[in-house]
Amino acid sequence: RSTPFPSPTLFRSIAGAGLAGLSAAWELARAGFDPLIIEASARAGGRVRTLREPFAQGLYAEAGAVRVASHHETVHHFIREFGLETEPFLPSGLGTVYLLDGHRIVERPGERPRWPLDLPPTEQNQTLDEIYEHKIHPFLAKFATADRNGPWPPPALRELDALTQPEFWARLGLSPGARRLLALGYRLDRASALWGLLEELDLLPSTGFVRILGGNDRLPAAFAQRLDGRILYGTPLRAVRQDASGVEITVERHGALETLRGAALLCTLPLPLLREVDFTPALAPERRDLIAQIPYMPVSRMYLQTRRRFWLDQNLSGAAIMDRPSQRFWPAAGVNPTQRGILHSYTWDREAHELDALPHDERVRRTLADAEAAFPGIRPHVEASAHWSWQHQPWQRGAFAQFLPGQVTRLHELLPQPEGRVFFAGAHLWSSVSWMEGALVSSKRAVRAMLAAVRD
Ligand SMILES: Cc1cc2nc3c(=O)[nH]c(=O)nc-3n(C[C@H](O)[C@H](O)[C@H](O)COP(=O)(O)OP(=O)(O)OC[C@H]3O[C@@H](n4cnc5c(N)ncnc54)[C@H](O)[C@@H]3O)c2cc1C
Repeated sequence: RSTPFPSPTLFRSIAGAGLAGLSAAWELARAGFDPLIIEASARAGGRVRTLREPFAQGLYAEAGAVRVASHHETVHHFIREFGLETEPFLPSGLGTVYLLDGHRIVERPGERPRWPLDLPPTEQNQTLDEIYEHKIHPFLAKFATADRNGPWPPPALRELDALTQPEFWARLGLSPGARRLLALGYRLDRASALWGLLEELDLLPSTGFVRILGGNDRLPAAFAQRLDGRILYGTPLRAVRQDASGVEITVERHGALETLRGAALLCTLPLPLLREVDFTPALAPERRDLIAQIPYMPVSRMYLQTRRRFWLDQNLSGAAIMDRPSQRFWPAAGVNPTQRGILHSYTWDREAHELDALPHDERVRRTLADAEAAFPGIRPHVEASAHWSWQHQPWQRGAFAQFLPGQVTRLHELLPQPEGRVFFAGAHLWSSVSWMEGALVSSKRAVRAMLAAVRD
């Protein structure tokens, strides 16, 4: 359904300066085109955002993407291209804390966890990773080499889009106890089983995670620096009109509406924002309905700055997974001359909304109660706190697409295709769930499709 461009030099617009839009502009500029990014907010990076305030000198923490998987080759390619450095996401050889039904379990390398659950002998004393390895990975192994450029998801997996994750785990024969362990720290009861499985499938080759030294936002910042003058900040896309001769977009700038014409548009907006763009002619009804229906996961984080990284004294990494409202804790990065540190929570769904609704003092009280249960003795170490909520970011409205049963297969049938001269990219259009790799791979594919349209 794509239409040839009248002339490659007329190519102009990309909506959204997240990793998808930035990398598309970078590839197009290098191919001799003249891209312009229309970005609603005042910064580049979208959901890759590093917080440096209000933390002590040298410390920083991630609001969005925290880690890069070892096999996410496109992210690593750009990390190398821009001369960035990485460090392990978590220090190796240290323990992870689990809180379950009022019990505190520390899983240390080489030791067997003793779960306070009624588990059959085949699941007893297995680590969470081992439950995945023994129960889920054998099922997925036959899809490991599936061609991601072919029909996606692999046809034999599609029927699992009708199930929720707990339903699929039950079908695999996992005991209720093992199902509770797999759900610990996540809120996936309503989500499509296929959504979770595609993530597991993608992560099969991963050997670990790293983060970018100095903050993950150094990656989008490196793109933005090289695209200087090609990004219009504070300029939301409001309307798109296309005809046989090109695409006219209406943007809001300094409180007034302006139009820009170009040969094509690459749209990388998250779905909650794409819903609000007025398309003429209207998008195909089934595409419009799906864009309107896919929910985005609410995610909030609380950051606790501590005077010392006291958890290291106890041979703990700072990671915790729990059945309490905070759900998960991770250590943040950065080096401070006095060895200060940050632990941050990672809270999804209903509990994220509850956290956002509290006065800040109350949020701190609630987060400290969970942190104290995981890391006893933390209270006197805490000297500052901060809060971040993705659902309250006006140009995001949630953390990532949370596909409900039926939506994964429909998304892959409907959304990656261009609509006339409008092409789509963004992490939600990848073969797995929302990762930085997905934003980059989806935009690479969309750029290839646009360039093919130019050549036709
Ligand atoms: C809490 C959280 C944790 C994550 N953890 C990880 C992780 O550990 N590892 C990992 O790899 N990935 C992680 N991710 C996912 C990763 O951050 C995203 O998949 C990726 O950054 C998305 O890039 P994108 O370009 O598709 O979208 P975005 O980054 O959302 O970019 C879209 C851009 O469009 C702009 N925009 C919106 N509306 C308009 C409009 N009307 N007009 C113009 N511009 C508009 C936005 O301001 C934004 O800049 C995480 C994300 C979150 C939120």
